[in-house]
Amino acid sequence: MIEVLSVASEIYPLIKTGGLADVAGALPAALGECGVKMRTLVPGYPAITAQMSGGRDVAHFRDLFGAKGRLVAGRVSGLDLIVLDVPALYDRPGNPYTGPEGWDWPDNWRRFAALSWVASELGLGLVEGYRPQVIHAHDWQAGLVPAYVKFGPSQTLKTVMTVHNMAFQGTFGADIFGELRLPSHAFSVHGVEYYGGVGYLKAGVECADFVTTVSPSYAAEIRTPAFGMGLDGLLNNRSDTVFGVLNGIDTDAWNPATDTALAQTFSTSTIQNRRGNKQALREAFGLDDSRGPLFAVVSRLTWQKGIDLLAANIDMLVADGGQLAVLGSGEAELENAIRNGAQRHPGKVGLVTGYNEGLSHLIQGGADVMVVPSRFEPCGLTQMYALRYGCIPLVSRVGGLNDTVIDANVAAVQAEVATGVQFAPPTEAALADAIRRTKALYADEKSWKKMQRRGMKSDLSWQLSARRYAGLYASLIGLETDDSEDD
Ligand code: ADP
Repeated sequence: MIEVLSVASEIYPLIKTGGLADVAGALPAALGECGVKMRTLVPGYPAITAQMSGGRDVAHFRDLFGAKGRLVAGRVSGLDLIVLDVPALYDRPGNPYTGPEGWDWPDNWRRFAALSWVASELGLGLVEGYRPQVIHAHDWQAGLVPAYVKFGPSQTLKTVMTVHNMAFQGTFGADIFGELRLPSHAFSVHGVEYYGGVGYLKAGVECADFVTTVSPSYAAEIRTPAFGMGLDGLLNNRSDTVFGVLNGIDTDAWNPATDTALAQTFSTSTIQNRRGNKQALREAFGLDDSRGPLFAVVSRLTWQKGIDLLAANIDMLVADGGQLAVLGSGEAELENAIRNGAQRHPGKVGLVTGYNEGLSHLIQGGADVMVVPSRFEPCGLTQMYALRYGCIPLVSRVGGLNDTVIDANVAAVQAEVATGVQFAPPTEAALADAIRRTKALYADEKSWKKMQRRGMKSDLSWQLSARRYAGLYASLIGLETDDSEDD
């Protein structure tokens, strides 16, 4: 068994703001089947400490970056957790990073430096009887882990840094450096220094033994100035140690044959049952009956997600019978753009704002097309859920969208391998063209159904990815596995 400590600032099902939580929550079980024992270090937010009543105290801190705290180990929802319980840092309302008004906590640098420092101490044997061989750090919140290890005493401890979204880098002023418990030479281009300040993600990308990101296409894209957000040069310098490992999905939580959020469950052989879901969906969004395809969006409404491109195409989308259902929340301007579309086209376009897990399942099970017009997309989950639910993904050709959807171009249609529609570049005109193409495909009922079935049969599980991570850990500590030769 390889012992790996995962360090994550959120974990499903306990606390989630995005895809990172899904990955952190799903990987340990999938890795268990690949000879890896994974425990996860998480901050003691109220939502987590509330679940830890049966936990054991395994360490105490009198002065952890100025605060008192302890480590509590326990098993919750099938996860082996080590919780960093420091009330002064983590016992707060709001989400993991922001207060109730939506502003970042001003001491986030301290909150996540503490998390990373404790992780590296665990790697050095802080808790008797526990010594991970590899620490797997996720995103900027754990970005200092590889720096603490690199500038610390261990000669053997290895680190993996996973980037879930290059857009979030955790950069702070140089004035915090003195409090980070790092030696002065760590403030350099080979350490945490980043454009004169301190960069947590930069530190992780610089100091980790391996860097991974969540799809092969995104791994290639982030080595270019257009997607690298300032770290492309660094990633290019170490490109033989950068890997893209595609996320999987939770195929139990997302199973159309058993999903209780659906009006009607279905499988590849009862795909006609989707009709009941489409009807329920129309009711939920105030849409009329219509012959045309029902397009849908389940997303944060942000520039990254290309929602403005879709808003600009609403009139052409609803022409000749198309409909649109949008579930999401985000930037006010984008919400308004969709709302205006709904007002212009009553019964054809509907918007539901807010976060609604049940409705997101019903949309996947009832809509004909899931639109994901992202400008960049490290992996993306909604298009994978769509595939599994027979909802045809219409996606921009970037990142994980490129790696999971096979475009219905002429060759793919002839070879009967298409599972959706891709478009590029991410512009209004290219999206309009893709909507037209999708409508034409929809008109051929028989081949549409075949495409739905094909998507539903795609392997979207964690199995392959878990084997790949296990291979990476093994090669770091000098073990051979069946997978190591692929790396
Ligand atoms: P990102 O992590 O960049 O937001 P992903 O596609 O990787 O994008 O993951 C988004 C997740 O959040 C998916 O599980 C999606 O179903 C869910 N989601 C997004 N917006 C909503 C919403 N308004 N209601 C319910 N689920 C949502």
